[in-house]
Amino acid sequence: MVYDQWREANRRPLWLPQTQEGQFANQPNRFGGAPDLAPDETWPRCRHCGVTMPLFLQLDVATLPAKAPVRTEVGQGLVQLFGCADCGAPLSEDGSAVARLLPAAARQTALMSHQTKMLPPQSIVGWQRHEQLPTADEWEGDELPDEEEEQPQPWIDQHGFGHDQLGGWPSWVQYAEYPPCPVCGRPQRLLFQIASEQGLDFMFCDVGTAYLLYCSHHADQLSFSWQST
Ligand SMILES: [Zn+2]
Ligand SMILES: [Zn+2]
Repeated sequence: MVYDQWREANRRPLWLPQTQEGQFANQPNRFGGAPDLAPDETWPRCRHCGVTMPLFLQLDVATLPAKAPVRTEVGQGLVQLFGCADCGAPLSEDGSAVARLLPAAARQTALMSHQTKMLPPQSIVGWQRHEQLPTADEWEGDELPDEEEEQPQPWIDQHGFGHDQLGGWPSWVQYAEYPPCPVCGRPQRLLFQIASEQGLDFMFCDVGTAYLLYCSHHADQLSFSWQST
């Protein structure tokens, strides 16, 4: 039927990160740890409480799997997500989170002091490719006749809150939400999904899931959101 054909037509690849504890000089892709910064830059701080925001995620686009759409569409640069782990303000780009693309240029390792907040580094040392069909959350057609039975996908954790993943379809905790690109208005796409306490030692509210989205036409337009029950 139409719904099944639509799902099959929207099959997407995704990649699950394989991680190793620690931060390594030759390994730019990681959860937590210290970020690379532009040469003249200091570690981003939370606008609400003033503390340094820990690095949540860093990805060197040019080192991502060759077939990942973000690699073709963005090309190069360092994708970074910072978030405040301190002030209890709901994480948002309104001051307590920063999602950005740092251009591929000279970089320095961020300087630290004893006050610098950092989450334990987990380096991404490999990727495991899978494929994924969209769920009914993404369906914009007529109302589905019945609650469609979704075939469980073997690589998905049984807890139902999604998984750390590069690309593919988001595991929405509540509802599908794609902010329009501020430049062109096209709906943004999933760049990376971060689950609570998998690669990143952080809990998004009540075992929530975070979404880093991007515009496939405007590489520097990233956005960050999260959902929780
Ligand atoms: Zn804060
Ligand atoms: Zn755009």
